[in-house]
Amino acid sequence: MMNRRTSLVAANWKMNGSRASGLAWLEAFAPRRAALTCEVVVCAPSVYLAALSAAAAKGIDIGAQDVSEREPGAFTGDVAATMLVEVGCHWVIVGHSERRQLHGEGDAVVAAKAEAALKAGLRPIVCVGETLAEREAGQTQAVVARQLDAVLDRVGAAALARGALAYEPVWAIGTGRTATPAQAQEVHSELRARVAARDSGTAAALRLLYGGSVKPANAAELFAQADIDGGLIGGASLVVDDFASICAAAR
Ligand code: PEP
Repeated sequence: MMNRRTSLVAANWKMNGSRASGLAWLEAFAPRRAALTCEVVVCAPSVYLAALSAAAAKGIDIGAQDVSEREPGAFTGDVAATMLVEVGCHWVIVGHSERRQLHGEGDAVVAAKAEAALKAGLRPIVCVGETLAEREAGQTQAVVARQLDAVLDRVGAAALARGALAYEPVWAIGTGRTATPAQAQEVHSELRARVAARDSGTAAALRLLYGGSVKPANAAELFAQADIDGGLIGGASLVVDDFASICAAAR
């Protein structure tokens, strides 16, 4: 069957940059956008989202990097999904491994965040991925299946497909150690099959992103895999030329 999924490439700036550097990035990237056929999302620190969404050229969606699972209320420091929508966000990353590891977010919280995002009309980019110890113990499939199931149980497959699913092996994030295209494809096809077991039509439409040390030099080979529909890009997304090259590799 022909793959009719539009590729999606998302930048994850993490806690980097400034308001000025983010605006300069958008200005430099805008002229490159027209030549790209993929969808582009820029996930920025929350305090810059309003300024960036006001400045973003057509075809560049702005996303947040986290969202509260709760309705607005007495939750100091948190940001509600409705607030992200109000400042022009269309997307939000949930369950990034840095939040799972550094902020103790478990599967249930990640699933609740995905649900809160969807309820407000945000598209969640749900991240799953195993640690090096889990991979070496042969637990990769079990770990990503558990992480995925928590979200599917809570929101259902069709709702998940309004966003995207990102496979990000923790050992490949920010390490310069990329999963081989074959390693990534193996997990991606397992993830798609797992969604297909619930809803085959949705599984065929769901964008599966790979993340973990994607660079201009390895992007094309990764994106050429049958079940890799784009990427979630950390370090390389900070450099406009590198990010644009990665986007160009996603057809
Ligand atoms: C990420 O944090 O989502 C990521 C993939 O980072 P990097 O590209 O730097 O490995």
